[in-house]
Amino acid sequence: MTGTSTLTERFADAFMPNYGVPPLALVRGAGCEVHDEQGNRYLDLIAGIAVSSLGHAHPALVEAVSRQVATIAHTSNLFVNEPEVLLAERLLGLLGAPGRVFLASSGTEANECALKLAIKHGRAAGRSYFVAAENGFHGRTLGALSLTGKAAIRDQFGPFPLDVRFVPYGDADALKQAVTGDCAAVFLEPAQGEAGVVPPPDGYLTAARQICDATGALLVLDEIQSAIGRTGRWFAHQHDGVVPDVLTLAKGLGGGLPIGACVGIGPVADAFAKGDHGSTFGGNPVAAAAAAAVLDTIERDGLLDRVRDVGERLRQGIAGVGHPLLAGVRGRGLWLAAVLTAPVAGEVQAAAQRAGFLVNAVQPDAVRLAPPLVITAEQVDSFTAALPGILREVGR
Ligand SMILES: *Cc1c(COP(=O)(O)O)cnc(C)c1O
Repeated sequence: MTGTSTLTERFADAFMPNYGVPPLALVRGAGCEVHDEQGNRYLDLIAGIAVSSLGHAHPALVEAVSRQVATIAHTSNLFVNEPEVLLAERLLGLLGAPGRVFLASSGTEANECALKLAIKHGRAAGRSYFVAAENGFHGRTLGALSLTGKAAIRDQFGPFPLDVRFVPYGDADALKQAVTGDCAAVFLEPAQGEAGVVPPPDGYLTAARQICDATGALLVLDEIQSAIGRTGRWFAHQHDGVVPDVLTLAKGLGGGLPIGACVGIGPVADAFAKGDHGSTFGGNPVAAAAAAAVLDTIERDGLLDRVRDVGERLRQGIAGVGHPLLAGVRGRGLWLAAVLTAPVAGEVQAAAQRAGFLVNAVQPDAVRLAPPLVITAEQVDSFTAALPGILREVGR
């Protein structure tokens, strides 16, 4: 039976229906290209949702992971390993601020750590509630889900044990109203990824920082999607010159290996006592070695500059396509959304796939592009050249 079924058919039978059935099975990749099980080749413009920062099968990642798995693959947190120490030191160095790191295996776990840290830090001072943004996304486990401002994925799993108050994203006055001396923490994305790569108005993060400073609430920036070079800086908040109290990372950090990190900056970094938190896989040396290889490669190959240049080229290329279905393009670096004038993003994604490009219908009217940071100008140009034809097929 399985011999004649495709992988997607077998997936449909063996897996829970929470993802639906994805349109393709990918069997291998090299650089920015991937191949499906029928042997078709695609230019990967989504990178596993902003994860495969170095593309596929990058020699630096292959070497680091192979070497580490052959050296020691797991120690647990009963013992220290060298890759986790190097990675934590490296992250603190990139932030340029005094702090401490907790390593996990996913984004949602990084946010769970941030939540527990904020609860612990705030409880002594009687701080009892959290503020997060409407349409924000922070993960699927119950703590992170309770911060997620999307009713469709949140409400049916409530009520939640945390008091979370939602404010419209980008509205500094609403944030100011919502945050008092009883607020433990404000959780924000520097731009909302799952909402469709939606940046806030200029000055919003600075205002959030000031509101938190004035009230003593912690500013937690969820950079799980936006960090590690995605916007042309190591961290998206560096564009605004603000420093969060807590920073969460995952996706692009491991270049495809599962890793998450929660960084406490300043005094909150010392809030946990021994025994307060943990993770068996957190600090896994293979994942940490992968992350170090990602950071080293971004630095060695000057990828931050590259992201700025190639990202701007992609942004302008899309903006230059005059088509009635295309309303514009938003985002920064290699983290963009083509905004549509009609809710046809799913059809655009399908047409792009037929034309050999993997993109993501992140919202009914927005197509997300988050390619590997190593994408070339020629590859970007091949997409913008194909885009009019893709849109023509959908408009028909
Ligand atoms: C993807 C994402 C998460 C959740 O990460 P997982 O690894 O899927 O748990 C949290 N916050 C943001 C901003 C994300 O983009």
